[in-house]
Amino acid sequence: MNEKIFPLTEDQLRKLIKKYPTPFHIYDEKKIRGNFARLRKAFEWNPGFKEYFAVKATPNPRIVEILANDGAGTDCSSIAELIISQRAGVTGEKIMLTSNDTPADEFQKAFELGAIINLDDITHIDYLEKAAGFPKILSFRYNPGSIIRGNNIIGQPEEAKYGLTRDQIFDAYRIAKSRGVKRFGLHTMVVSNERNTDAFLTTARLMFELAVEIKNRIGIDLEFINLGGGFGIPYRPDEDPVDFDAIGNGIRELFFEILPPAGLEKISLRTESGRAMTGDAGWLISTAIHEKHTYKDYIGLDSCMANLMRPAMYGAYHHITVVGKESAPRDHVYDVTGSLCENNDKFAIDRQLPKIEMGDLIVIHDTGAHGHAMGFNYNGKLRSAELLIRESGRIEMIRRAETLEDYFATLSF
Ligand SMILES: *Cc1c(COP(=O)(O)O)cnc(C)c1O
Repeated sequence: MNEKIFPLTEDQLRKLIKKYPTPFHIYDEKKIRGNFARLRKAFEWNPGFKEYFAVKATPNPRIVEILANDGAGTDCSSIAELIISQRAGVTGEKIMLTSNDTPADEFQKAFELGAIINLDDITHIDYLEKAAGFPKILSFRYNPGSIIRGNNIIGQPEEAKYGLTRDQIFDAYRIAKSRGVKRFGLHTMVVSNERNTDAFLTTARLMFELAVEIKNRIGIDLEFINLGGGFGIPYRPDEDPVDFDAIGNGIRELFFEILPPAGLEKISLRTESGRAMTGDAGWLISTAIHEKHTYKDYIGLDSCMANLMRPAMYGAYHHITVVGKESAPRDHVYDVTGSLCENNDKFAIDRQLPKIEMGDLIVIHDTGAHGHAMGFNYNGKLRSAELLIRESGRIEMIRRAETLEDYFATLSF
C-alpha cells in the first residue's frame, strides 16, 4: 500500500494557478532527495557506489542539479541530455553515455566532456575510434538474451535491440584491450518499472558471474558494474513500493559470495535510476473544463496526452484525485479525457471518482518521470510549464510553457 498525497493545500494551489495557469507539472524537491537517499543507503556498503540519474526521465537542469548536489551523476542518451548535465554542473566521468544507434556527433560530445562511454554494439568499437578515438574508460552493454526474462514494459531481452550478446561481449573486451583501452565497465538494463526484489538479484548475480568470466578469459578487472535503472514505483494505491533495503542486502550477499574469491572486491556498483528518483515526486495539474454525457460520462481536462503519454501509450494507471474532494465518496464513474483527436487520449477509463464540477482542479499523480519528458506537439498541442516546490516551500518555475511562437519557430510561412 502507498498513500497518494499531493503536497499543496487547495488554497495554495488556487493561489498558484493565478500566477501559473493549468496545465503544468509540479515537482517536489524534498521527495526527490528522499528517494535518492533511500537508494544510496541500500548501496552504502559498496564504497564506490554511484547513481547516474537517467536524465531522460526528467530532462530539466534544475532537477538534475538537486540529485547532483547529493552525489548523483547522469545517464545520457543524446547530445541534449549531455548538455543538460553539463549545465547542471555534472562533468567528466560523472556522466555516462548509454545510447544505441549512436551518431558520431553524440560520441564526439561525450568524448569532449570526458564522459564514460557505454557501447551498445561490437561494431561501435571501430565507429567510436573513427568518430572520436577511445576514451580512458570504456563500457559495454550486455544483453543476456534468453538467459533471463524481461518484463512487460521493456520486453524480452532476446527481442530487444539493445546490447551485445554473450559471445560478442568477450570479443568486445578483447578487441578494446588490444587497442590500448585500460579501464573497463560493464552495463545492462533488462527490467523496467519493476518492483520485485528477485528481479534485481537475478540481474546482479548474472552480472557478477559475467565479471568473473571476463577476468578469467580476457584478464580484465572491471572497474564498475552498472546494473541499470528500472526500479519501479507503485502507480496504484494498493501496490507496494520497491524494497530498497532488501535489494541492497540481497545484492551485497551476492557481491561478497561471487566477487572477492575472484579478486574483484574493488568493483564499484552503479545504477541509473530515473523513475524511482522523480516519478512519485511529480504531478500533472489540470482543470476540468468539460463534462459530457453520451454513451459514457466524460470529464474533459485542459491537458491532454501530449502532456502525459503513459496512459495512452502503455495503458498505464495514474492515480487521480480531485482537489478538495480527496475524502469524498468515489461514487461516479468517468472517462477522464484530453483534447487530442485520438480516441486513446484518456487519462483514465471507467475510473471511480467523486462528482466533478467544471473548474475543479484535477491532480494526476506520479508524473515526475517520463511525464513532461515524453511530451510532444501532435495536433499543435503545446508543452506545459514545469514548476518545482523547493524544500523551503518556495515555488519556482523551472520551465516555461511553450507558446505558439515556439511551435511556429521552425516554419516559414
Ligand atoms: C530509460 C533508461 C533508464 C532509466 O529507466 P527508469 O525506468 O526510469 O529507471 C536507465 N538506463 C537506460 C539505458 C535507459 O534507457
